[in-house]
Amino acid sequence: MTDEELDRYARHIVLRQFGGAGQQRLKAARIAVVGAGGIGSAVIPALAGAGVGRLTIIDGDTVELSNLQRQPLYRSDQVGEGKSVLAGKFVNALNPFVDVVVISCRIDADNATELLAGHDLILDGTDNFATRLIVSDTAVRLGIPLVSAAAAQFQGQVGLFRGHVAGAPCYRCFVGDAFDADDCDTCAEQGVLGALVGTVGQYAALVAIRAIVGIEPDAAGKLFLFDGAALEWRTMRLPADPECKACG
Ligand SMILES: [Zn+2]
Repeated sequence: MTDEELDRYARHIVLRQFGGAGQQRLKAARIAVVGAGGIGSAVIPALAGAGVGRLTIIDGDTVELSNLQRQPLYRSDQVGEGKSVLAGKFVNALNPFVDVVVISCRIDADNATELLAGHDLILDGTDNFATRLIVSDTAVRLGIPLVSAAAAQFQGQVGLFRGHVAGAPCYRCFVGDAFDADDCDTCAEQGVLGALVGTVGQYAALVAIRAIVGIEPDAAGKLFLFDGAALEWRTMRLPADPECKACG
């Protein structure tokens, strides 16, 4: 690392669980962030600031006025512009040591393998079950750990899935097969508190950074649920489904 990097990451490097070795692991890591919406608006600055070596940002949407309440990556004068390009510019301005790959299309069953291959971790912050299941099935097939994060109304959830490891659950083990056709935008339908999305997104970034650095205990196999109305976190242990069509 250069002197500038040592200075930039000084508050990480001084952490006992992190050190220079942990920071090097982040620098060597390639993370794909699927979705540059509400979750992405928290995750992308957190991972870029932390010094992840390569960030791939996948999103085909443009900024809408109704996004600005919970997507602080974007400004009022950017309504109508492509999110992934704007997010890439944000990362470049924040941390020149991050290599950004901008992919301005919607991920689907046809392109998911090509877009996600070659990453060390996938962070999914998309807003519908159909896409999340495609991303999860692809992660299992490619043998890549997946952090899945979602928020609606006052509720949020974050999980780390290592579905490619024998006996470990994948995201499909958790939600089942009933939602493969459910591609509605949950935020538009149900509403969501902006600060709740940011909380859940930052938590997802923390789970991802822990996984890359190797901070114990490993979070895989647990689901972290946040209730923004009661202001409570709780943890659920997820069993693997032996009949799961992705990982079983
Ligand atoms: Zn599974």
